[in-house]
Amino acid sequence: MGVSTALFLARGGARVTLVDAAPAICAGASRWNEGKIHLGHLYAADPSLRTAQRLLPGGLAFRPLVESLIGHSLAPAISTSSDLYLVHRRSVVDADTTGRYYDAVTALAASHPAAARYLQPIGAARAERLDDRTLDALTNRTEIVAGFRVPERSVSTRWVADRLAAAVAAEPRIDVRLSTRVTGLTTGPAGFDGPLTIVTAHGSEGPFDAVVNALWEGRVALDTAAGLAPPAAWSSRYRVAVFLETAAPVTTPNAVIATGPFGDVKNYDGRSLYLSWYDTGLLADGSGPAPPAVPHLDDLAASRLADAVIAQLGGLLPEVADLPSRTASRQVAGGWVVAAGHGALDDPASTLHRRDRIGLTRHGRYLSVDTGKYSVAPWLARAVADALL
Ligand SMILES: Cc1cc2nc3c(=O)[nH]c(=O)nc-3n(C[C@H](O)[C@H](O)[C@H](O)COP(=O)(O)OP(=O)(O)OC[C@H]3O[C@@H](n4cnc5c(N)ncnc54)[C@H](O)[C@@H]3O)c2cc1C
Repeated sequence: MGVSTALFLARGGARVTLVDAAPAICAGASRWNEGKIHLGHLYAADPSLRTAQRLLPGGLAFRPLVESLIGHSLAPAISTSSDLYLVHRRSVVDADTTGRYYDAVTALAASHPAAARYLQPIGAARAERLDDRTLDALTNRTEIVAGFRVPERSVSTRWVADRLAAAVAAEPRIDVRLSTRVTGLTTGPAGFDGPLTIVTAHGSEGPFDAVVNALWEGRVALDTAAGLAPPAAWSSRYRVAVFLETAAPVTTPNAVIATGPFGDVKNYDGRSLYLSWYDTGLLADGSGPAPPAVPHLDDLAASRLADAVIAQLGGLLPEVADLPSRTASRQVAGGWVVAAGHGALDDPASTLHRRDRIGLTRHGRYLSVDTGKYSVAPWLARAVADALL
């Protein structure tokens, strides 16, 4: 979010200082996630369609915006098959209701004026329900009760992160401050109308004409330090997944186990895979404005976690159970998922099943942006840059 905003601002003629607590840019959640470019199918527990409607324009704009930022086609990063959504017997939404929701979301996406910009043609305006023979071949039918093919795809987020970092390095109007944690904001004589100074662990920096808070896990704490009221309910979860490379191409399907605290498999190019199982990969979970501490995973703990994720997914998808014998390397990594809302994902009433309350809040020249999802970040960044330019 911060990197895309900085690039749009710099290319619009602004001088930008990009500040990151980490020793490298593009090293947080945006490097280590599944890269699903949402059309809205994941949010079947929000039947109002508000989440799908909120996420859709950003998902459709992702490809052209990222291609303009990195100066390269996104094609090599896009997963090579459409996602299968497999409904678990403990899903918080039953299979028929899920099917109707997927049809509604697919129709919404297919009829959107920007539909042609998506990662792939959206095609038919309905989700395809898988027949029993296909499901029997793909899944463990005692756990999976239905399956749907939807037109969603994902991107390899490491591929994108490397190219965004290169674009920043090549941009003379961006000054980068690494290993610099922002802890506060000092407003000017005109309050948030500036000029504004940021307080960092190394002292203060500025004054700036405007400050954009795109700190994701650090955003609410900075808003609070700046005197803004924190949201009523806020959740910060640190999630890790397995990033695995195979020795030879595999046909493991792109699949989401829906809807609840289950898992996902992404096969980006036949050899580079993402595997997650929700409970196993959840390392920290907090509800305050600042994120909780994350326990350190040593190599042995990381390896055990990867084994457990593969075993859990492998119990549902036989092709995943075959991966250990085909693995060349694997890494456990992740980042923060922060969201307005609370509750457990196995509770249909949890407010974490909706993700429509995201985006930009503006106080004078201080802009705070809740990214919400990776898939909408470039689109929100464009809006933030436009608001400032
Ligand atoms: C396992 C996992 C899977 C996910 N899957 C998907 C998916 O499939 N599709 C999707 O759309 N989204 C997904 N997400 C969510 C997605 O990753 C995030 O919404 C998105 O990456 C957030 O982007 P960001 O730029 O706001 O945060 P980040 O990329 O994390 O960047 C935030 C930056 O702020 C810096 N920072 C934080 N606090 C401070 C501070 N106080 N001072 C200075 N710097 C600070 C951090 O170092 C970091 O570099 C997933 C997340 C996880 C963890």
